[in-house]
Amino acid sequence: MHKFVLYTIIFLNWFFISCSTAQQKSTMQKNPYYSRTAKEKLTLSNEEWKAVLPLDVYQVARLAHTERAFTGKYWDQDIKGTYYCAVCGHPLFTSTAKFASGCGWPSFFETLGEHSVQYKPDHSYGMERIEVLCGRCDSHLGHIFDDGPAPTHKRFCMNSIVLDFEAAH
Ligand code: FE
Repeated sequence: MHKFVLYTIIFLNWFFISCSTAQQKSTMQKNPYYSRTAKEKLTLSNEEWKAVLPLDVYQVARLAHTERAFTGKYWDQDIKGTYYCAVCGHPLFTSTAKFASGCGWPSFFETLGEHSVQYKPDHSYGMERIEVLCGRCDSHLGHIFDDGPAPTHKRFCMNSIVLDFEAAH
């Protein structure tokens, strides 16, 4: 009887680990455009992106929704590493440029490279803001403001859900 219970527990463990690994693989394999080294621009339609992205990522990246403050996975994170575009894998920021802005979204005072992001005037919601887009796939990442710390005095106010973090080894 005890052996039966033990074997059942072992089987269930194996079953759930297999399922979660398979799910992770299928999520990664579902987006064939994700690359941390590719440089070529991606010009896909929203329909094409919708087919390969999780819905919550799609809604921020392609429809410019904003995640609620203090709810994202990176706003309060202080770990050394690199932040990539969660849509296409393009390198965007390093943790050395991240600062505790207190605004509830991950904030950076500068980008990783010259071509990490691009900018677009945003007149939505009756405000004059500058939208920040991924330099490779044009996905919406957030906005940039002029109230950041020295040396740039900029605040890249990003949505966690469109960022993909890898800790430094
Ligand atoms: Fe991207």
